[in-house]
Amino acid sequence: MDECNACNEKFEWDDRLIIVEDKYYHKDCVTLYATGYVAFLDDDPLGETENDDGQDAYEIIDGLLGD
Ligand SMILES: [Zn+2]
Repeated sequence: MDECNACNEKFEWDDRLIIVEDKYYHKDCVTLYATGYVAFLDDDPLGETENDDGQDAYEIIDGLLGD
């Protein structure tokens, strides 16, 4: 757990670490895409969400709060 899953080198105390699904990587060993949240329906990518990780429905759809 103290070595990079990409290059298998031990981490130094001042390395920047990225954690993906409980695996550890050097930040320099992976490529980060700042794409925000991408939604998948089953295995089909729907695309990047436009509101990060979502909002309450009532904020988006008029009338859901009822009377
Ligand atoms: Zn590495």
